Amino acid sequence: MPDIIVIGAGVLGTSVAYRLASAGVKVTVLEATRVGGGTSGVSFAWTNSCNKAPRAYHDLNVAGMRAHAALMDEFGSTPWWHGGGRIEWKAPAERAEQKAKVARLQDWDYPVEWIDRKQALELEPDIAPEAIGDAPVAWYPRDGWLDPVVYAHAMMSAARRRGAVLRIQTRVAGLIVEGGAVKGVRTASGETVYADQVVNCTGRWSNEASGGDAPVVPLAPTIGFLVFTPPVPASIQRVVASPICDFRPDGAGRLMLHWGPADATVTPELGVEPGMDQAIDLVKRLTRILPGIAPVKPEAARVTVRPIPKDGLSAIGPVPGLQNYYVMVTHSGATLSPALGAMAADEIVSGTRRPELAEFRPARFFA
Ligand SMILES: Cc1cc2nc3c(=O)[nH]c(=O)nc-3n(C[C@H](O)[C@H](O)[C@H](O)COP(=O)(O)OP(=O)(O)OC[C@H]3O[C@@H](n4cnc5c(N)ncnc54)[C@H](O)[C@@H]3O)c2cc1C
Repeated sequence: MPDIIVIGAGVLGTSVAYRLASAGVKVTVLEATRVGGGTSGVSFAWTNSCNKAPRAYHDLNVAGMRAHAALMDEFGSTPWWHGGGRIEWKAPAERAEQKAKVARLQDWDYPVEWIDRKQALELEPDIAPEAIGDAPVAWYPRDGWLDPVVYAHAMMSAARRRGAVLRIQTRVAGLIVEGGAVKGVRTASGETVYADQVVNCTGRWSNEASGGDAPVVPLAPTIGFLVFTPPVPASIQRVVASPICDFRPDGAGRLMLHWGPADATVTPELGVEPGMDQAIDLVKRLTRILPGIAPVKPEAARVTVRPIPKDGLSAIGPVPGLQNYYVMVTHSGATLSPALGAMAADEIVSGTRRPELAEFRPARFFA
């Protein structure tokens, strides 16, 4: 069995490390910070395939949802994943689009149905009825959310039980390339680590980690702004999406908030603190939906960057002209990681190509 280096211990790196180690591969995971210390640690992490096109990308996300569910059989319990579904209502101007989306998803056998306000309030009794108004509500019973760091730790621990080695605080500065083939990596501290194959799972840092020694996979990252409440008196059990803001439970009574238009009000360079106007505004919006939690202030705010390949789709596989090198970079990694980890490990170990990944090869950027 080959020696393989996985760079990065987010949800993707730990998923592929677990599957490789399970297949008997000698795996070393090199992580610049700590397990889940990158984007995975700051993610809304809604597991779904609600708005994923084209069809192959929708199917890939459904495979991710199924893979999360299947981990229950493998691990006995999956405390990192929460079901509960998702409810969604829209402003009048967006309802035609929502209707078309639900029809398309039903056509694709995705679990979604229309419910009325009374049924929505039975699911989430703390929501103010007037926040929903007369909006039709879409109910996605199989959606859920992930605690990505808990998941990544579980995958890494399972990999280590199968012999994988984890080295944290080990930053990769580039690849060792000889005769068009990767032979290992160079670390920022000047060390060389040799391996038969290198899997780059550094997400938004993919091109920095390869240090100019591999073709650049073009990324089009976007900024995400998340706000967290302190524990609040509300019994929210699921992901809620509304024209006012989106939110979900985040443990111990805390809620995590996201609202698309607020992303544009922040930058990664901006000092982020819970007292910032943008965070206060988001929590105020939330109290329009959950008046029972007022008065409340944000407990934390985070600005982070989504690792998105230029065309919005996953980039999974070898890159042209460089042997023994495999890249995994994607948005929707909270949903996709258990499926992508298993598919990638299968490809790396068997040398075959999974048809599910055919449309997501990095090679499309170099044609
Ligand atoms: C605001 C926001 C909301 C999101 N919402 C959702 C959602 O609702 N549903 C969903 O499915 N997905 C969502 N995502 C996307 C999802 O979080 C990411 O796709 C996923 O976390 C990416 O995981 P990763 O393992 O590829 O990357 P990361 O978690 O970033 O892991 C990469 C790791 O590599 C390490 N690293 C970096 N450089 C080096 C180096 N040179 N050497 C060694 N290690 C290095 C980093 O420290 C990090 O730990 C969201 C993302 C954001 C930002």
